[in-house]
Amino acid sequence: MAFYKERKLWNEKIEAMSKDEMRALQLKRLKKQVAYNYKNSPFYKNKFEVVSAKPEDIKSFKDFSRIPLMTKDEHRRAQEESIEKYGNPYDLLACAPREKIIRINSTSGTTGMPTLYTLTQHDVDVVNEMHARKYWRAGIRPGDVMIQALSLSMFTGGLPLSQGIQNMGACVVPVGIEGGTKRVLDFIRLTAPVAIIATPSFGQYMIEKCPELTGKKAEDLGLKWFFCAGEPGGGNPEVRKMLANGFGAKVFDHTGGGHAFHGISCDEPPEHFSGMHFVSEDHCLLELIDPKTKENIEIEQGAIGEMVFTFLDWEGGPFMRYALGDILQVNTEPCRCGMPGITFKIIGRADDMLIIKGVNVYPEAIKTAIFKFRPEVTGLFRIMLDRPGPTVTPPLKIKIEYGEGLPEKDLPALEEKMSSYFKEEVRIGPQFEWVPPDTIPREMKKTKLIEIRGEKSMK
Ligand SMILES: [Zn+2]
Repeated sequence: MAFYKERKLWNEKIEAMSKDEMRALQLKRLKKQVAYNYKNSPFYKNKFEVVSAKPEDIKSFKDFSRIPLMTKDEHRRAQEESIEKYGNPYDLLACAPREKIIRINSTSGTTGMPTLYTLTQHDVDVVNEMHARKYWRAGIRPGDVMIQALSLSMFTGGLPLSQGIQNMGACVVPVGIEGGTKRVLDFIRLTAPVAIIATPSFGQYMIEKCPELTGKKAEDLGLKWFFCAGEPGGGNPEVRKMLANGFGAKVFDHTGGGHAFHGISCDEPPEHFSGMHFVSEDHCLLELIDPKTKENIEIEQGAIGEMVFTFLDWEGGPFMRYALGDILQVNTEPCRCGMPGITFKIIGRADDMLIIKGVNVYPEAIKTAIFKFRPEVTGLFRIMLDRPGPTVTPPLKIKIEYGEGLPEKDLPALEEKMSSYFKEEVRIGPQFEWVPPDTIPREMKKTKLIEIRGEKSMK
């Protein structure tokens, strides 16, 4: 057992590789991957043809950036085209022969046709490896019980995540969120986990409901780790403090975007957030682009851009230059936690971006600002738009709950304090619409931050 305790990384050889060695490995794998995709999928072959390129023309990362981007809408359209042509949604995109595909996963997307991921045994092994790298860094070891309270579905954080936990030798309780809060709490009592994986908003809900449902506080459940997933928030210092204090646990944020892009935050106090360490560089080429012009942005200290990823050394349906719409900020300097690799923060979604008087604003930045004022506010709010963004006619309207026990006569003073903070930090002057605590619905799954008046909800 001592062996487990001492090893800090799951895969020392890869995870601690020098930057130059990693880039060389990525380039070698990229050349192989593009040739493979070109040969096996009409969809990817076409990507080369539209820019009159052949796989052998890709000699550098720069050459590769000439290949057109792939978007989620295009992914859906290709699936539809595939159904028309081949009678199934994958023949156009999948690169491995049918008998090698052993799993089909889907995104958690709730609107439109789900986007599918086809995996071979090799690909499933890669996903499992990435989950193991993340939890190992956080300190999870064989013998530790983890309760999985995310939506237990086909998305990366659902069933595949359970497998990843098993793969590293830890014990998973895949209770899922579908059975409700009480069921999750019952299974915590029955199986005594040391770690929970859930959305931050479900964490907040559990902290609120725990005394009523179990007769004890969330901090007495025995959880030592809270792993945030499925929605933003795990990087927000105020959310982190709320979860750390509420559960008496260390808080980690982690992601497994599109199966290939995996990251986990550092072991650090909740008031700090240095970002997530990118742990899957050997299987995922990251590029950053300008969300408007789609031109490449250099990955250097502090760079902000829309993330584009390419699968490296994958077989089933390896994506090439896939732009999922997440906006990242990267940190290329060595992290103070001592763990290797670049770190990144997900700072918003390209399609959630609002433009107010020429200022780009992400709902997450508004959330961070609002959380600074807890407990004078509950932290629950909705951005109210008259019509879909990104351009908003000022002022930006925010429906916001004031805190429990705050007299209404104190609202003007609070509003003044918040307005000047917003002007300084977010560079906007919003108009607040105050509502009492418990007015805005608590979401069990993904929290909606934007609402369009007249429409029931949107993302
Ligand atoms: Zn770190």
